Amino acid sequence: MCAFLLLRLDLADVEHWLQFSLSGSTITRMTITSSAQSGVDRPNQVDPLRPDIETIDPRTGDSLGFVADMTADDVARVLERAQVAYQAWNGLSFAERRTHIYAVRDLLLDRAELLVDVITAETGKLRAEAVFAELMTACETIQYYGKTGERSLAPQKVDVGLMSHKRALRSYEPLGVIGVISPWNYPFILAMTPVITALFAGNSVILKPSEVTPLVGVAIGDLFADVGGHPDLVQVVTGGGVTGEALVRSGVGKICFTGSVRTGKRVMAAAAETLTPVLLELGGKDPMIVCADADLDRAAAGAVWGAFQNSGQTCMSVERVYVDKKVFDPFVEKVIERTAAIRQGVGAGDDIGSMTFAPQLDIVERHLADAEAKGATILIGGGRVPDRRGLWFEPTVLVDVDHSMQIMQDETFGPVLPIMKVDDADHALRLANDSRYGLNSSVWTGDSAIGQALARGLEAGNVCVNDVIVSYAAPALPFGGVKESGIGRVHGPEGLREFSQVKSIMTDRLGLRREAWWFPLPKRLGTMGIRVMRLRHRRGLGRKLSALKP
Ligand code: NAD
Repeated sequence: MCAFLLLRLDLADVEHWLQFSLSGSTITRMTITSSAQSGVDRPNQVDPLRPDIETIDPRTGDSLGFVADMTADDVARVLERAQVAYQAWNGLSFAERRTHIYAVRDLLLDRAELLVDVITAETGKLRAEAVFAELMTACETIQYYGKTGERSLAPQKVDVGLMSHKRALRSYEPLGVIGVISPWNYPFILAMTPVITALFAGNSVILKPSEVTPLVGVAIGDLFADVGGHPDLVQVVTGGGVTGEALVRSGVGKICFTGSVRTGKRVMAAAAETLTPVLLELGGKDPMIVCADADLDRAAAGAVWGAFQNSGQTCMSVERVYVDKKVFDPFVEKVIERTAAIRQGVGAGDDIGSMTFAPQLDIVERHLADAEAKGATILIGGGRVPDRRGLWFEPTVLVDVDHSMQIMQDETFGPVLPIMKVDDADHALRLANDSRYGLNSSVWTGDSAIGQALARGLEAGNVCVNDVIVSYAAPALPFGGVKESGIGRVHGPEGLREFSQVKSIMTDRLGLRREAWWFPLPKRLGTMGIRVMRLRHRRGLGRKLSALKP
């Protein structure tokens, strides 16, 4: 069965047609041509026998087209092919795998403009956001693992203690087929990071992109399919939660899930039934601490960018700010001034685009209503952008907030910045840690010792000092959450080893006829053992030697 899906994206001055060929259960090919070249001028065609999912341009509310809503049977068939692909891929050396992944990166670079078109059309984010946060970070991650991955995965000789006639190795083996389930806020990079890393570690991949941004997932699948050479190495299954759960239950070697805490808990519960390991990258309620000695101009600019870039739909967004009472008023004034200057739109001169997902706007509105009802004051913004179709929400700053409010407790995931006055840095730290989340966080101070002390005190997987969000852009730095923000790490050697399993290999070097502890056991083995133990572990030469006395 084969269905074609044609999507028309009116982007800048170019009209692109995306043609997706859905073959059987998986998307196997995408060709992108201008309508002038292809002469294509047909309405969208979707296989009428399959239920499908519509994808929407959030900037306008217009339909972009449909993708298949795949079933558990579809996922099972895709898994069979992924297992075959894994066998071939795992047979390659690291250098051969790297060559192939570099070829995928070449294709990514050739298709950069079109990938940005698809990302911006499905998310509403700006082109610059798509370029820097999504494509460039993917290229940097490929570069990092291309350079360092072989060393991180190399077998390591380990100390054998007493057994000096043995050799012991720790070796990193692939897990097989990795299931990657990704969200809609950074649909390219949050799929590409685990996909690339899993491949470097020798696995094949099945990607289930968010049903809100499936075309970005399809475009990723096509990068790997179109580069040729390794069919089914990265396959894409489109669908929603049912498809995702089918992937979790399918028998893959590991699930890498990025998404909300609520869904993450479901994924972990389903994975527990087959003891499938999980890597969970979940939500955050990231605190920012502004000390009395902070550079207020930089801190205010950082707060505004950290809260509003990507319309606040970043797991590492600044979601709550605690400011020392001595600098509270000037800080808030600077934040308001900068927020008022933000340009919202779709053009090159704009600062933020639209939001992506309609239900997320409802959450933003609910959190603001709850905060206002409990005494918060909105200083700027507070509503949908008037007279505009699509998902546009004003950058919003509020004060008089406290921890009884949802806006200080639950992830808002929108362009909203609540600022709270605190007595001092210790008070700020206590409030920052009063959260079930622990993803990113930031500290702003002119004193580096205070910065490092607060960084160590923050209950979070990642901390920025006098900076915000950027830690994810350094692929050598492990990234992940504590508390309910997740389990495991991406990036760094730790991230690569997340997609491996450790195998311990012990090899005998001498080939003796028998070991001292094999049968028949020597009569004095126990007594000898106590002597050896004392000799090795007693402290001080005299005490050690006394172990030799009969
Ligand atoms: P979501 O949890 O609603 O969905 C994420 C993915 O899970 C989607 O692909 C969805 O189809 C799938 N899914 C839904 N139900 C499932 C089930 N029962 N089993 C398996 N898969 C299922 O999250 P979202 O709204 O797409 O993304 C926003 C959330 O992601 C926010 O909470 C954000 O903080 C978080 N996030 C975390 C990180 C991180 O690195 N820690 C990065 C980006 C986003």
